Amino acid sequence: MTKIPHRLYLTEDQMPQRWFNLRSAMAEQPDPMLHPATLQPLGVDDLAPIFCTELAKQELDGATEFIDIPEEIQEVYKMYRPSPLIRAYNLERALGTPARIYYKFEGNNTSGSHKLNSAVAQAYYAKMQGLTGVTTETGAGQWGTALSEACSYFGLTCDVFMVKCSYEQKPFRKAVMGVFDADVTPSPSNLTEVGRKILAENPGTTGSLGCAISEAVEAAVGSGGKKRYVLGSVLNQVLLHQSIIGLESKIAMEQLGEYPDVVVGCAGGGSNLGGLIAPFMADKLKGVKNPRIVAVEPASCPSLTRGKYAYDFCDTGRVTPLARMYTLGCGFIPSASHAGGLRYHGMSPVLSKLYHDGHMEAVAYEQTRVFEAAVLFAKQETILPAPESAHAIRGAIDEALKCKESGEAKTILFGLTGTGYFDMTAYENYLTGKMTDHIPTDEELQKGFDSLPDIPQNKGI
Ligand SMILES: *Cc1c(COP(=O)(O)O)cnc(C)c1O
Repeated sequence: MTKIPHRLYLTEDQMPQRWFNLRSAMAEQPDPMLHPATLQPLGVDDLAPIFCTELAKQELDGATEFIDIPEEIQEVYKMYRPSPLIRAYNLERALGTPARIYYKFEGNNTSGSHKLNSAVAQAYYAKMQGLTGVTTETGAGQWGTALSEACSYFGLTCDVFMVKCSYEQKPFRKAVMGVFDADVTPSPSNLTEVGRKILAENPGTTGSLGCAISEAVEAAVGSGGKKRYVLGSVLNQVLLHQSIIGLESKIAMEQLGEYPDVVVGCAGGGSNLGGLIAPFMADKLKGVKNPRIVAVEPASCPSLTRGKYAYDFCDTGRVTPLARMYTLGCGFIPSASHAGGLRYHGMSPVLSKLYHDGHMEAVAYEQTRVFEAAVLFAKQETILPAPESAHAIRGAIDEALKCKESGEAKTILFGLTGTGYFDMTAYENYLTGKMTDHIPTDEELQKGFDSLPDIPQNKGI
């Protein structure tokens, strides 16, 4: 048998030309999104004032199995895709595990993360619709960077509301977005009604993703039809675009004669995980294969492991539609953690449904254990991982250590969503022993749950 290469790059013509819609493989669909006023399931017309029409259609389409990736999008993808599937030989050796560890590396573009996969798609559809620009929120800054990049390719303006604590912690993120001509505002801000209201109630707030979303939605709705709001995670359309990660991974593994026994990914809003697992979960649901699927989240923001499966707003300002998902409550403000991209109160409705039905597992880790894994990984594999991605590394390492104990040579696949070069404050804190973690108490969680909308659908939750 020839040795499996360290890095497998598919050729450009092996890159998938269609996205895969995981919902089409689900016998039971996620519950529909509801209009916040009428509590009725949403139609395209309800979503059209907020989202681009084509994206609103993708959002509501649970049936179509494959959706063609427009050629213009494929062309942009080819600037940084196909992304490599890497065999973590050095990490395996360092752990002394019989497991074979593979990771799909999505950090090889300026945004430093997988987020460009959806940003390109969303900017493209906005351009096709004749809009002048888009508005969005960003937490850690990866989504804002990805969207700025995508907007600059397609000649759109990009208004980014950036969670205030990240804005202050990561000035260089703002500079990168500036390279791509984005307009970046710390959130909450005085530019929107909802921002002014949140500031009046809580002047010292360091912001949250949910709050920045409220501001971005308001800015889009108030643009006189010229702009739409775009979101970097959680939504069905975003998971659809991210399916390219899983599709490429599956093709590459097939070329190596491999199939994962375990697939591990970090989960913030669920987009990279939903994309990575899409084809493998479909095999599982069809009974063709039976991989374990593991979501890894921060202990400071444990929506799957400690949240409730309920209808909730996607934002703090309570302006978005309601989604049924695992949530800590839209009023939950997680403690300032270094994995800003995982600081979100809810979870993709698709993943929430799969988790609820027992098709997926979830674990939560404290920051220090995550950074311990990040540093080990950087030393063995040369890539300095994003703190978010390091959650998946921690999960994969622990799976590999279980194999060491049992002597099983399992195949582990994890998603390495991005690089951590803008997160050096976090690494410095870790290295100097200053890293702390706040795990929410039951009372703090209860406060978040108290903010869940009081609607008939949530009775008894
Ligand atoms: C945003 C982000 C995440 C988390 O978002 P998901 O939608 O859950 O994938 C993970 N890793 C990186 C590097 C990110 O930028």
